[in-house]
Amino acid sequence: MPAAPTPRPGAASPDARRPSADPWRVDLRELGRRAGSLHELERSIPAPADWRVELIGVPEGAPIDLRLRLESVMEGVLVSGEVDAPVTGSCARCLEPIEETLELDVQELFAYEGSTTEATSEEDEVRRVEGDHLDLQPMVRDLVVLSLPLAPTCTEDCSGLCADCGQRLDELPADHAHEVTDPRWAGLAQRFGVGPGAPQADRPTPAPGTPGPDNPEEN
Ligand SMILES: [Zn+2]
Ligand SMILES: [Zn+2]
Repeated sequence: MPAAPTPRPGAASPDARRPSADPWRVDLRELGRRAGSLHELERSIPAPADWRVELIGVPEGAPIDLRLRLESVMEGVLVSGEVDAPVTGSCARCLEPIEETLELDVQELFAYEGSTTEATSEEDEVRRVEGDHLDLQPMVRDLVVLSLPLAPTCTEDCSGLCADCGQRLDELPADHAHEVTDPRWAGLAQRFGVGPGAPQADRPTPAPGTPGPDNPEEN
């Protein structure tokens, strides 16, 4: 196994040279703490892995576009604006691929350390400024993942698949149907009162769950 190149003593690693390489991290030193100061932020950041629910999610590395306003307020930094996230998945009804972009609005307060808001809220109730920066990733992740539908559909009123042939109903003619041709089923249908000409009145209705006298399994 070839030896990995050992870093020369004193040579900074790329990460150490660029402490703010994390694109989700926002340096607040420029914004300052004077209430009312504003900072606009536009960034496109590759999505981390696992921003997804069962049938739909953001592909890893896809660009998350942020257009945010950071405003210094008494208690902290108010972050508001828009987040666009491309998502791919499949329709819960017909399994067709889905590809779209979520356009989401966000507005959240990041409380300053030592602020009243920080002192009077639980750790998980309000986001926090961490020293002289804030981390946008948990906020954006929650925003995106919580808006992913558990049952996404390819169109608002997708009709799903034909139970008999498995084709997409939206691509079939409106009168698409399958004839029941098996005579055994036709006979049963008639006997149990679901077909035409079935006897209705002369048969007592068995209580639910009790096997009736004419249970088809026993014949
Ligand atoms: Zn569909
Ligand atoms: Zn069919």
